[in-house]
Amino acid sequence: MNPRPRGALCAAITLAMLVWLHSVPLQAREPDPWSAERLTRLVSQAHARFKDVKDGANADYIPELAKVPSELFGVAVVTVKGEVFTAGDTDHAFSIQSVSKPFTAALVMEEQSPGVIVDKIGVEPTGLPFNSIIATQLLPQMSANPMVNAGAIAAVSLVTASSPGERFAKIMGWYERMAADRLVVVEDVYRSEAATNQNNRGIAYILANKGRLYADPLEAVDVYTRQCSIGVTAKQLAVMGATLANRGVNPMSGKRVMKGDHVAHLLAVMMMAGFYNEAGAWAWSAGLPGKTGVGGGIVAVVPGRAAIVGFSPRLNAAGNSIRAMKAIEYIAAELGANVFEASR
Ligand code: GLN
Repeated sequence: MNPRPRGALCAAITLAMLVWLHSVPLQAREPDPWSAERLTRLVSQAHARFKDVKDGANADYIPELAKVPSELFGVAVVTVKGEVFTAGDTDHAFSIQSVSKPFTAALVMEEQSPGVIVDKIGVEPTGLPFNSIIATQLLPQMSANPMVNAGAIAAVSLVTASSPGERFAKIMGWYERMAADRLVVVEDVYRSEAATNQNNRGIAYILANKGRLYADPLEAVDVYTRQCSIGVTAKQLAVMGATLANRGVNPMSGKRVMKGDHVAHLLAVMMMAGFYNEAGAWAWSAGLPGKTGVGGGIVAVVPGRAAIVGFSPRLNAAGNSIRAMKAIEYIAAELGANVFEASR
């Protein structure tokens, strides 16, 4: 063969390959790690893998929480497209507890500004337990950040209202928009915590004494306690988280709930303080902003993608659900969802 036809043949083959490559859909070349099939499988695998873990114990400093069946276990993923993937007990309403904290902080940002969180509460992690009184003495901001009790009670006190009833109604309505669903208070849990929350009352008075609380201390603690008693299912909590993942637009209702620009501030403080004295270990292993609660719920947010939720009542010493942490870490690792991973 003389050189000219060979060159032409090579060019023709290259062209044909390029045309072929172009016509093959992207998914066929690289399987989508976020496909519905894969998410369905990962959620049930996470549930199956960790359902027999018996480590830890229910919270019992709120007596009613000790009565919640310890075997309950739900795993849910809701994507920014509104897809829902669940396994296990994802329709059981549990008390949201401290997973409420970022959502109330979001309401304060929306009503006032993100700067109010910095100036009137703080954004520094404490490295101490969620209910630490020592932290109020160690940090110049006292309330530290809105993810610990001190800062969360301060956040409640910053919700604009002329009465505690109005303040709570606002918080409830806000959570319902985040969840695109009706929510109810778990009254037994509320009564149980209201009868035993002296530590939080102490924190509120310490803040009020230095001008770091912005409503009556006992009223603020009562609204905070009621907020912590709002019941959510793992599925509803995952929708709330997916609203953050979707930059403030609820993927189920399609409605904008909060300003997009505020979400990154909220996720930053969740990453730094959402797991209290375990925030470092969580960032190390999961690499996702998240928030835990002593009711056994945890929400983790994959910005631009989804929320991953685990719920199971048995907690470790830091007050974080062991099964929920394991399930979320597993799913996040399989998806390559770590926010610090350049290849994600
Ligand atoms: N309501 C609980 C408290 O104030 C919330 C604590 C938590 O979930 N970590 O103690």
